[in-house]
Formats: sequence, C-alpha cells, structure tokens
Amino acid sequence: MNFSIFSLEGKTAIVTGANTGLGQGMCVALARAGADIVGVGRSDMSETEALVRTEGAEFLPVKADLLTLEPIENILDEAGKRFRKADILVNNAGIIRREDAENYSISDWDDVMNTNLRTLFFLSQSFAKRLIDSKRGGKIINIASMLSYQGGIRVPAYTASKSAVMGVTKSMANEWAKYGINVNAIAPGYMVTNNTAKLRSDPARYAEILGRIPAGRWGEPSDMGGAAVFLASAASDYIHGFTLAVDGGWLSR
Ligand code: NAD
Repeated sequence: MNFSIFSLEGKTAIVTGANTGLGQGMCVALARAGADIVGVGRSDMSETEALVRTEGAEFLPVKADLLTLEPIENILDEAGKRFRKADILVNNAGIIRREDAENYSISDWDDVMNTNLRTLFFLSQSFAKRLIDSKRGGKIINIASMLSYQGGIRVPAYTASKSAVMGVTKSMANEWAKYGINVNAIAPGYMVTNNTAKLRSDPARYAEILGRIPAGRWGEPSDMGGAAVFLASAASDYIHGFTLAVDGGWLSR
C-alpha cells in the first residue's frame, strides 16, 4: 500500500484516446500510481491494456467515437458499472488537420473543434454532474498544447481548439472548485506521437523545432506521467484552473 500524497490507490481514471501516444503514456503512469483505468477510444486498446495490467491495475476498454457527444453517458455508465465510481477524467483524445488558412475547410474546422473542444467540455460536464450529485470531489485533466499559447502554422482549427481548452479549463475550475473538483490542464510540447508524424517527417521542420527545445530532445509519452499523476492526486488539491507545460522548456525560450 502506498500512502504518499501522489498515490492513486483505490481511484479510477477515465482516459480518452487511450490506445496510443500520450494517452497510453498517461494510462501507464496513472496505473503505476495505483489507479484502475477506463480507456476510451475508437481504436483497439489491447496494447495499452497489457501495459496497464503489467502495472497491476485493472483496465476497462470502452469503444467510443468522440467526434460526437452521443457516447458520453455510456462511457460514464460503463465506468460506474465496472468500478462503482470514477474519480479522474483525462480529456486526451484530439485531432489535428493541417492546411493553409486560406484553404481550410469547414469540415476540418468542425471535426477538430468538435473532437478537441465540444466533446471535452460536455464529457467534463457530465462527469462533474455525477460527482456533484454523489457529493464527491474529483479531478479533470485536459490536454492543451503549445498552441494554447502560440498561433502555429497551417493549423488554425487546432490552435482555436487548444486555446479554448486552456480558457474552458479555467472557467470549469472556477465553477466546480467549490465541489472539490480540480480542473487543470497539461500543455505538452513537441512529443513523438502520431500527432506530430507529418511534422517529424519534414527534416527541416524537425531540426528547426529540435533546435528550439532547451531540453535538447523531443518529448516522449512517458514524459507526461509525472504531471498527470500530480494533477490526478491529492498533491494538487489546491490547484485549480492551471495549465502545466510539459515542454522541455519550449515556452521559456
Ligand atoms: P495521437 O494522434 O497518437 O493520439 C490521439 C488520440 O486521440 C488517439 O488515441 C486517437 O484514437 C484519439 N482520438 C482522436 N479522435 C478520436 C475520436 N473521434 N474518438 C475517439 N478517440 C479519438 O496523438 P497524441 O500526441 O498522443 O495526442 C494526444 C493529445 O495530446 C491530443 O489532444 C493532442 O492534441 C495533444 N497534444 C499532442 C502533442 C504532440 O506533440 N504529440 C502536443 C500537444 C498536444
């Protein structure tokens, strides 16, 4: 038994976009700290399930397409049925579509905003309602971006959505702090996942970005673990509405 303030023993964490990348990295870290995991996503999650089970935690996969709001209640019902309660929600699922701003399509705009922002807000709302109704506190961790702070190039919808994630993290935090619900965000820097595959395949852009990262390397999914466990644990009980950059120093330049 682990009694440290970072322990997640007895907690259940719902993580969206759990099959790969940063979501998988955070599932493993939360499981290592003691949490059981509800992995949510549209793809097969067996790789993450095996990694979580290796940490000695339970894993429940819930299939859901988060482009729409339709699966939200089912996700929370399934988590409740299997684990009785969910304590932590990590809104990690997100997409990026690249195109020059003058040619950006309405469908790309809508898909990015709906997945990255609309579902994040309404899943958080339903999760918070259940916590409030059952008079329990909890933790919501949203995944923001460097483009919550900066404009980016050829990703206007992504920048709009991630800037809004940082804003809505504060507005949810303000309203739900009184219920013992902490809403915070993590802003990853440039990390090695599918999200950045196109960027990394351009040698000039890859080198340009690398050269600006004080840590001297791109981030890995495992780099998200410390911040995720911290914001999911009692160690962050008095932290509300803050976005923590995990960026190798990118924002400090
Ligand atoms: P990724 O593309 O590997 O992962 C995205 C995850 O979201 C996948 O699990 C995917 O299945 C899921 N997802 C996307 N659309 C979905 C849908 N409609 N329904 C269900 N699941 C859906 O990339 P990643 O880097 O691991 O991204 C995770 C989060 O981190 C995203 O929100 C992304 O914007 C953010 N982020 C990534 C970086 C980076 O450098 N990789 C930087 C900043 C922020």
